[in-house]
Amino acid sequence: MRVLLHACCGPCSIMCVKMLRDAGHDVTAYFANPNIHPVMEYLRRREAMEQAAARLALPVIWQDDVYSVSGWLAAVHDQGIADNADARRCAYCYASRLTLTAAAAREHGFDAFSTSLLYSRHQRHELIREEGEKAAARVPGSSFLYMDFRPGWQEGIDLSKEWGLYRQNYCACIFSEEERFLKKVRKLAEAQ
Ligand code: SF4
Repeated sequence: MRVLLHACCGPCSIMCVKMLRDAGHDVTAYFANPNIHPVMEYLRRREAMEQAAARLALPVIWQDDVYSVSGWLAAVHDQGIADNADARRCAYCYASRLTLTAAAAREHGFDAFSTSLLYSRHQRHELIREEGEKAAARVPGSSFLYMDFRPGWQEGIDLSKEWGLYRQNYCACIFSEEERFLKKVRKLAEAQ
């Protein structure tokens, strides 16, 4: 099948591409990630995606025109899900990107779409699967291909290091960045 793979970043895409190809699929990546904050982080991850794609001889469809920090924050704020502890924010984040992917897959005539989010051990795997299926239902003519890419976890990490790719240390949105690093600020406050 011709598969459009939503790519969240370069490192996470490596094993997804390899495993899909091993299963006989023809893969094109689709980079659509308005959840990555701040802008410089988006550019760093995009560059790592370009480097991974060059290594893998992987065609990529770039959807930079959907990138908007203020638009993304307004969307989560308006839905009342701008809260660190709220799983609904991640559900929206998955749904919005997978719906874009489903629409792009239909527009470009792909047989199915999938996502590199299914590679991460840190993501909500079952929720991603559910949102992929919902996105396909939302976009008639599109089809979601579920595959568990997590068995490739360590090999993907090793390859991304060998290739010198930028490896992020928080999920992507500003809330996840706060979650990851705020404790450092708290410790400084405690020491005062
Ligand atoms: S934590 Fe990650 S998956 Fe959840 S909303 Fe933020 S960027 Fe999206």
